[in-house]
Parts: sequence; structure tokens; C-alpha cells
Amino acid sequence: MAFYRDEGKLRSDDVRWALESFNRGIKEYFDDTFRQFHADLYQNIIQIRGICCQKCSKKKQVADWCSLCSKWRDAILAKHRFGNTMMGTFNWKNIDSTKWPSDVEEVQKVFLPSWYKGKLDTTDLSSCLSIMANCTLFNNRKKLLAIRDIRNHVSHGGMSITVTEKQEYIGKILSFLKKDNLKTFPSVRKAIKHVTLLETQSIKDLYENDLIEEIERNKIEERLNARRGIYCYVNTCATSSILMSLLIVLMACLIFQWNRNNVSEGTTCL
Ligand SMILES: [Zn+2]
Repeated sequence: MAFYRDEGKLRSDDVRWALESFNRGIKEYFDDTFRQFHADLYQNIIQIRGICCQKCSKKKQVADWCSLCSKWRDAILAKHRFGNTMMGTFNWKNIDSTKWPSDVEEVQKVFLPSWYKGKLDTTDLSSCLSIMANCTLFNNRKKLLAIRDIRNHVSHGGMSITVTEKQEYIGKILSFLKKDNLKTFPSVRKAIKHVTLLETQSIKDLYENDLIEEIERNKIEERLNARRGIYCYVNTCATSSILMSLLIVLMACLIFQWNRNNVSEGTTCL
């Protein structure tokens, strides 16, 4: 497999893999927390039943929302860290308030940054971290933001990091996973096992020495193949750019020569 030979880049891959394990690990905790929150809202907090037919979240004025959507909105915002201060900046048009009683994902979208557009992908670590950091159902906002910083630092392929950076990043990821309320989830325990291995070994060691399950090995292969695909694409683009530049230079030379000939012929006529 095409692992990096450069130690620094390989360490960066180790951290990216630890983040992927972290993401898969916390997904169960994330989903479970929101499932419980949604059930509590539906059964205990929102006393109004029925369906909104007015597409309230698409309206210009929040004050024009129906009583059902308003009640859901206030109950959800009560768990938003900035619910009171961000009222005017929520991207309500990206949310379908009519789905709040039936779709937990539509509730999760309220906790995304206001600039977020389109469909929510909760398998994406960045989206999950943003939601968790903005929602008071999840503690340790500081630790969540630290993991988001790590993700931002190593997200670019080919990035090189030091031994100290790798230790620090893996330590922070493990510290979050090892919280008591998380360890009850099997997926979190599995992630702890993987990330702990990466404390002292590389993703290459895990793959080549059969230290992880077949399914994890396949995921590593998938990721490396995807990277190779990007590499080939970048190479193809670079080759195309060089050929195009050469063609432009050649055309410029031909035009220049043609002009010179014309000028020269013109001079002779005069
Ligand atoms: Zn409504």
C-alpha cells in the first residue's frame, strides 16, 4: 500500500486515522443523545400536536411562525449555547421546521453554524463537532474545539507533523473518548482501542502487522486508494497545464514570426 515514506507525513496520517476512529466512535453517542433529546421534546416539552402546513422556517419574519413551530424552535434554542444572542443570524431557510416533530436530523441542523448550507451529513467530523460544540447537551466544549483545531491542522493531505504534535493530538483525542459517560458505548471503546494503538505505532504498523480488524484494514485501503486517485487527478491536471502552456508559447511564436514576415514583405513592396 502507498503509505508515506516521510515520517512527518506518516504521523499526520496517523492523526487523521485517529480522527476517523474518533468520528466513528462518537457517532453512537451523538445519535443517542439527540434521539433522547428529541423524544423528550416530543413527549414532555411540546404539548401541541399536529402538523404545520405553513413552511414557517421559510418565512421572512420569525414572528410570523405558527405556535407549533415557535414552541419547537424555543425548546431547541434552549439547548443552544448561543440561542439568545444568535436569534437574528440563524439560517432558518436551511431548516424545515415542519419536520421537527418527526425528524431528529432537522433538529440537529439548528446547531450548525449559520453559514452552513444544504443537507446535513452527520458522518462528517467537522459537522458533528460544530453541532456538539454549539449544543449544551454535550459537555467539554473546550475539548471539542481542540479536536476541531487538530482536524483543521491535519486535514490537508501531505501535511508533516512532529513527534510531539502527534503525541499531543492523540492525547487530546483519547482524553475526550475516555470520559465516563462515553465509555459505555461499544463504538467508543473500539475507538479508544484503535487510537491507543496509534499512540506508539503508525497506521502503517497497524495495517502491515495485522493489529486491527479486517474491516478497519479495508477502510485504510479505501482511504489510500482515494488519495492515489486525487494524486493521479492532480498529476493529470498538472500535465495538461504544462502542455497547454507549451501550446500557447508555440502559438505566440508562430504569430510573432507571421507578423515579422508580413512586415518584412510590406517593406519590400514600398
Ligand atoms: Zn409552522
